[in-house]
Formats: sequence, C-alpha cells, structure tokens
Amino acid sequence: MNYREHINKLIRQKDLEQLLYKSAEFHGHICSFSAYGVKAACYAMNQLNLEHEGMEEVLAIVETNNCFSDGVQLVTGCTFGNNALIFYDLGKTAVTVASRANKQWIRLVLKASFWKSRAEIYPRLFELYENIVTKRKNVGPQVKKEFRQLGQNMASSELKVPEPEMFVITKGKAEPPRFAPIHKSVICSQCGESVMETRARLKEGQPYCLACAADRFFYMDGYGIGCREQV
Ligand SMILES: [Zn+2]
Ligand SMILES: [Zn+2]
Repeated sequence: MNYREHINKLIRQKDLEQLLYKSAEFHGHICSFSAYGVKAACYAMNQLNLEHEGMEEVLAIVETNNCFSDGVQLVTGCTFGNNALIFYDLGKTAVTVASRANKQWIRLVLKASFWKSRAEIYPRLFELYENIVTKRKNVGPQVKKEFRQLGQNMASSELKVPEPEMFVITKGKAEPPRFAPIHKSVICSQCGESVMETRARLKEGQPYCLACAADRFFYMDGYGIGCREQV
C-alpha cells in the first residue's frame, strides 16, 4: 500500500493548488510561504523524478523553520518524524531535495529581489501582516477575515509564477547524508521513563535521562535551535 499515492499523483500532475490545500490540513492555514514550499518541493520532486514512502529514500534539507517548511514536508514526505527532514538553522527560505538512489540533489532558494517586489504588489496584505502578526495587534474579526482572504489570494497567485522567476535553482551530485541510526532504549533510574541510549547519562553506574541528570540538551522552538539544562 502506498499511502502517498494521491500526493504523488498531484506532484506528477503539478497540481499545486490541490497540494497547497493538502498542506493546509497539516499547516493549519494557507499562506504565501507554505505556497513557496509546495512549489519548490513539487519542482524538485519532478526534476529528480522522485516518489517517497517515508523510508529516507528522499531527503529534504530545509534552512528555515517558517511556513515554507510545512509545504516542503507535505510534498516531499520528508518529515520531522521520519528522519528524512534535515534542518539547517540558517534562516533562509531554501530547500535542498536529495535522492539517495542516484545521489542527485537540487536546491531552491527564494530570490531576495522576488520577495522584495511582493510588498509593492500586495501592499494591503503587507500592512495587515505588520499589524496582526509582527505587532500582534488586536484587530476585529472583519479585518482578520480580510487578512486570511488576502493571504489565500496571494498564495494562489504565487503558485502561477514560473519557478525560475521566484527561486535561484542549483543542482548537483553528492554523497547523501547517513541513514538515521537506530538506538536501544534504557530506563531512567530516576523517573522510570524509557530513553534513547545515546541520550542517557550514567551517574554512579545508574542511567539518568538528561532531564533528571539536569544535563544540557538541544531543543528547537520558534527562535531556532538552542541548548539548555532545564526542561
Ligand atoms: Zn503559514
Ligand atoms: Zn529521568
């Protein structure tokens, strides 16, 4: 059973509108950056002639944790949970899609000049974005509705822009990253929770999870990747 057959079909048909709707099931709303993610990923999947069953045969390296990455996850099938999504915390609207089978990769990055030109084309939407998202101002339901609608309209129109106008596209061949390792689990002697062996620490011969050991661990939130000691 290929659970992604429907999505694979939409990719082959380049049905960006349907893929964007699908991505909204995952992302929660329709916006221009999820549309850019859908568009970049669909282009890459077709260029490399890829299908993905979520076993790391396709890899996506995203360079941002904004809306773009959700469009990429839906279309490439490379997700946070299946280890096929790799995150470089560079803050660029860019993705590299790579095939394990033939070692080919393709990178698409949103052109700075293209993004700059959008503010003149969608002035009202940019104004609302500034107030609602950046400044978190409390606007009425009517304005919120207008914001959502304009966002959807923009996303739809952006899907029609030819890819080379929107992205800088580069291709190459390289050794793909290693497969994700499989580790055993141990039981933390303090909290009794099961923890991946590589994330456990030994204290006087007893396994501790990083939380109970109050040891440093990496985390990711809206600010990017960080490191801290307290859960
Ligand atoms: Zn979004
Ligand atoms: Zn513990």
